[in-house]
Amino acid sequence: MEKRALEPEDYELIEIARGAIAPCYDGEGYHHTVGCALRCADGKIYRGVNVYSIHGTCAEPVAIGAAVMDGARDFDCIVAVRGGERGEIMPPCGNCRQILGDYMPDCWVIVEDEEGPCKVRAKELLPFPYRAEY
Ligand SMILES: [Zn+2]
Repeated sequence: MEKRALEPEDYELIEIARGAIAPCYDGEGYHHTVGCALRCADGKIYRGVNVYSIHGTCAEPVAIGAAVMDGARDFDCIVAVRGGERGEIMPPCGNCRQILGDYMPDCWVIVEDEEGPCKVRAKELLPFPYRAEY
């Protein structure tokens, strides 16, 4: 798996994701607990927060939807963070790994391992993904 160190703009993206969830964070009610920031190739950034329910959605698809609605199609890097004091980096859930692999296989995804934050390609986060037959 190709793994890269974060660049200054990636640390800025993490802070933007933290800024997305900060005013919405509802730690007690669990309606909005995760923020996301998605940077496009042109540098434009879209944000999202999760919308909790039995069939609610994660923060990543909300940010992706905002970007797509704005005509964005070339995605560079995405990160999700938990709200609250620590704002730790959240790895994408299984469903989001499928979405990221479908929509933006070459997009970088900021994750964290034992060495600290790093970024990997979306397509490498979900081996043997589901492939719909058309
Ligand atoms: Zn998810």
